[in-house]
Amino acid sequence: MGTLRLFDAHNHLQEFAGRADFARMVDEARKVGVERMVVNGTRESDWPAVARLANEWPELVVPAFGLHPWHVASRTPGWLKTLEARLREFPHAAVGEIGLDRWVRDFDWDAQTAVFAEQWRLAVALNRPAQVHCLRAYGHLEQMLRDERKPERGWLLHNYGGPAEMVPAFAALGASFSFSGYFLTARKIADRTAAFTRVPGDRLLLETDAPDMAPPEEFSRFSCFPREGGGPANHPGNLAGVCEGLARVLGVSPEALAARTTANAARMFLGDAG
Ligand SMILES: [Zn+2]
Repeated sequence: MGTLRLFDAHNHLQEFAGRADFARMVDEARKVGVERMVVNGTRESDWPAVARLANEWPELVVPAFGLHPWHVASRTPGWLKTLEARLREFPHAAVGEIGLDRWVRDFDWDAQTAVFAEQWRLAVALNRPAQVHCLRAYGHLEQMLRDERKPERGWLLHNYGGPAEMVPAFAALGASFSFSGYFLTARKIADRTAAFTRVPGDRLLLETDAPDMAPPEEFSRFSCFPREGGGPANHPGNLAGVCEGLARVLGVSPEALAARTTANAARMFLGDAG
């Protein structure tokens, strides 16, 4: 097998920053073919770490800045201004991770939808792609976005766990869809195959969501330190396994899937033509 050329459409590399084995981990990911990754901030307090990584690894890291629905309550009065400043500081940064989540405990729906809409409109205004998290709110998301302008470079439904039947509707709204290693687990694979076979070829991306969403053992090339909740953290180099797993399901070669998903990600996040 040749070397894969991979683009991780969504991870949180900043959560590994400061670890003694950080540089080795990045090196391992690059050795298995990860050429680029979108590193997503989730709240004001982790945006500086994302910015630092983007400056330190400019050829690898595409930064994304956003307020995740789980962290809406942590925002300061100046959060939106700070976000806009971060996006202007990095002209190639995406907006993310933003989204809607009716699964998390004690969510404040009004605050979530307002914060999501403000960030979405900022993405449109600054012509940036958006990274969208959605849990148990797919109908709401679809309805909301029908009436909104869309980012010209598109937007990503990361770790798409929604219904297969909604893929065409989201695609019509300009969405792309990324597949994570967690979807290769026995619990998820049949259902996610049904959804991802409906994703148009030019809208399909791969992600690790590291340190979350670890693939099953069979597709894990690397494991990291144990996490508080048990189980190892997902490693950014496991993108190679995600590619191999989805390629098997779709009946294509990993090289072809890597090339296609990398081109799709480059178009959205780097503005590359073709
Ligand atoms: Zn994420």
